[in-house]
Amino acid sequence: MSDPTGLVDRFGRVHRDLRISLTDRCNLRCTYCMPAEGVPWIPRPDLLSTDELVSLVEVFARLGIVEARLTGGEPLLRPDIVDIVARLSAIEGQQGPLRISITTNGIGLSNLAGPLAEAGLERFNISLDTLRADRFAKLTRRDRIDDVLAGIAAASATGLRPLKINTVAMRGVNDDELADLLRFARDHDAQLRFIEQMPLDAGHTWSRAQMVTGEEILEALTAEFELTAKPGRGSDPAQQFIVDGGTTTVGVIASVTAPFCGACDRVRLTADGQLRNCLFATGESDLRGLLRSGATVDDIEAMIRESVTAKRAGHGIDDPGFLQPDRPMSAIGG
Ligand code: SAM
Ligand code: SF4
Repeated sequence: MSDPTGLVDRFGRVHRDLRISLTDRCNLRCTYCMPAEGVPWIPRPDLLSTDELVSLVEVFARLGIVEARLTGGEPLLRPDIVDIVARLSAIEGQQGPLRISITTNGIGLSNLAGPLAEAGLERFNISLDTLRADRFAKLTRRDRIDDVLAGIAAASATGLRPLKINTVAMRGVNDDELADLLRFARDHDAQLRFIEQMPLDAGHTWSRAQMVTGEEILEALTAEFELTAKPGRGSDPAQQFIVDGGTTTVGVIASVTAPFCGACDRVRLTADGQLRNCLFATGESDLRGLLRSGATVDDIEAMIRESVTAKRAGHGIDDPGFLQPDRPMSAIGG
């Protein structure tokens, strides 16, 4: 073990959660994430190989990272995704083997959910913004809702829990479906989490007025359900509520209107090996370059520590000088 005190920043936040983007490519084109034509993809030679990724994650584990979430782009597009999960979940961290979860649009899960679970995956997070085929096609610019629904069924059938479903709430797009989505999640023994739309789209089309706020989401839900706030949020970005006194919960991730930066325990590794200390960071640390230059584990540890030390107190979306990061969400890893 390298350092039992872990990755602590200037504000005392201990970093235990690593978000890993496996690719910036995607088989959907969600309007709030990518333009119709896609974005200039990261050149293939710049992408971390699986061996490079595993080497870097081993260093993160020495520094106190205990869980990793695989994301993208669409992480299931990585041809060796099952092998990646097997190798990462075999890495020993300070609390035992790393806990590996995945955020996916669900396409491909009907075949992959079982093998991923067998490879050691702990949990699925699946994104679903609408239950209506026509809306789905318009919102994602692809007619693939059936594949997503089949993927959710396959993930549910693995028995891995909690199964989480993420929904970005959007004014005039799906804000009349929030209660239906919660009923759908309940029927699939899944926990739904509504997310406020953030200024991270490649087209820079985000506007505060278009965003549905956490407060508005709760207002819509309480019209149909009895919600009881759950105490003990910890570093969970979602404020959780119990639905109708039962076993179902719903979460609201109000990243814009009620930031949770004070409890943030996350750092991010992009598919091209850049370390970002925040979703909204404007700077990055080039771990790929360092690794490929033949650096030692100590050098890599030092770069990771430096990045964590430089982490700002908050994302600053409300600051007058706020600048949207150059990388779109699909290339950072949400
Ligand atoms: N392709 C996978 C998926 O869609 O689940 C993983 C990557 S995607 C970038 C991760 C999550 O970020 C998804 O739940 C997506 O809805 C969310 N997301 C993308 N752009 C967003 C934005 N501008 N604001 C809030 N959430 C966003
Ligand atoms: Fe692809 Fe996920 Fe972005 Fe949608 S949100 S375009 S599925 S990366």
